[in-house]
Amino acid sequence: MQRTCKKARVVAFGCQMNERDAETIAGLLAACGYEVTPLESQEGDERTVPDLVVFITCCVRENAENRALGNVAEMKRLKERNPGMIIGIAGCMVQQEGIREHIVKRMPWVDLVFGTHNIHNLPALLSRVEMGERVIEVLEAPDEMVEDLPAIRAYRHKAFVNITFGCDNYCTYCIVPYVRGRERSRAVDDILSEIRQLVADGCREVTLLGQNVNAYGKGLPPLPDGTQPNFATLLRAVNEIDGLHRIRFTTSHPRDFTSEMIEAIAGSQRVCRHLHLPLQAGSDRVLARMGRGYTLHRYLELLREVRESMPDVAITTDLMVGFPGETEEDFQCTLKAVEAARFDAAFTFVYSPRRGTRAADMPDQVDEDVKGDRIRRLIEVVNNVAGSVNQELVGTVQEVMVDGLSERDPSMMAGKTRQNKTVHWPARPGLEPGQLVNVMIQQAGAFTLRGVES
Ligand code: SF4
Repeated sequence: MQRTCKKARVVAFGCQMNERDAETIAGLLAACGYEVTPLESQEGDERTVPDLVVFITCCVRENAENRALGNVAEMKRLKERNPGMIIGIAGCMVQQEGIREHIVKRMPWVDLVFGTHNIHNLPALLSRVEMGERVIEVLEAPDEMVEDLPAIRAYRHKAFVNITFGCDNYCTYCIVPYVRGRERSRAVDDILSEIRQLVADGCREVTLLGQNVNAYGKGLPPLPDGTQPNFATLLRAVNEIDGLHRIRFTTSHPRDFTSEMIEAIAGSQRVCRHLHLPLQAGSDRVLARMGRGYTLHRYLELLREVRESMPDVAITTDLMVGFPGETEEDFQCTLKAVEAARFDAAFTFVYSPRRGTRAADMPDQVDEDVKGDRIRRLIEVVNNVAGSVNQELVGTVQEVMVDGLSERDPSMMAGKTRQNKTVHWPARPGLEPGQLVNVMIQQAGAFTLRGVES
């Protein structure tokens, strides 16, 4: 059924997987006749009350969940102004039964709830809502993957491309395997044809996405030449695509990172020199309780091997403080690990218990005050290290892909180096997103670099 001139807004919280899902949901809504607000400019415009809002939620941390629920709660007011408005909630949060029940009972203004595994059914679900039904439908991970869904991409010059879905690792703090299902890999041909189409449409950079990209290929049938596809062979195949300038990938798991993958990255000139390799903690005791499957020594060995074959590589990480049982001594190990690893940047998190995970039931939960103190100290060390790593780039010339004008200062351009560092330089008319320019770096802080075109 075609609907005309109705306006929809898609609001995504959380990770890049959700951003990618938002593009597909926007594409499906457009195919249903909705005019979808551009994904880049969707933050709550109060003047226009849309006919449909879909929230794509995250449940990895408690504050992400609270933020999503807060936004959905605010929709009650908008719906009073436009009673015909449809409010939908999708994503990881609603895969959890308890949250779903909360929404069903306490948020009667929500019309549609669907999970991470039935996005492709959105047109059918929406038709039922439009007929007056309140639809709550959340499925388990299917065996078959649905390909070729429409999408409205957030950017033309760069794109996310899913390569795996779900995760089999069950790190003891993590809710993802419970809400995104078991690990499944897309077929090599499906990934390559999606990227070729993106390139034909003007895309210059792809980021291959998965909860654990290094596990790519498990369970796939052998290729026609008899070899088993894996992440290294996939990278080499993507590297062959003409017209593509840059290949990125996230997230890697240190336990599954092999020497073959390091060789594939080092030998593929389109693959960027940036690894996001979550360490999580510097204490072996904490790493074991997290179920991460590596020690700090093994992690640092891996960094040594990576840096030996790619001296210009940037390493970023995720670090968590306040995991159950973390002592001051354990925390000191994390601080020392940051100094030893010389991270280019780190996302730092405070542990928050997620119901249903093993860590949530561990007895020795850390005090909130102690967590607050540790995260402040960790951020200070991370920023000092990142600032001094970035200082080494002053005076060098970096290849930068243009993203556009800086959001904070439109007299400056913004773009990224191959190491994924943000660079600002004076705006020049005619520069388009996706173009490559050389920038001489003149100043460096912990988060950004500044320079001039050279
Ligand atoms: S690897 Fe661990 S932290 Fe990452 S998604 Fe899987 S279970 Fe969660």
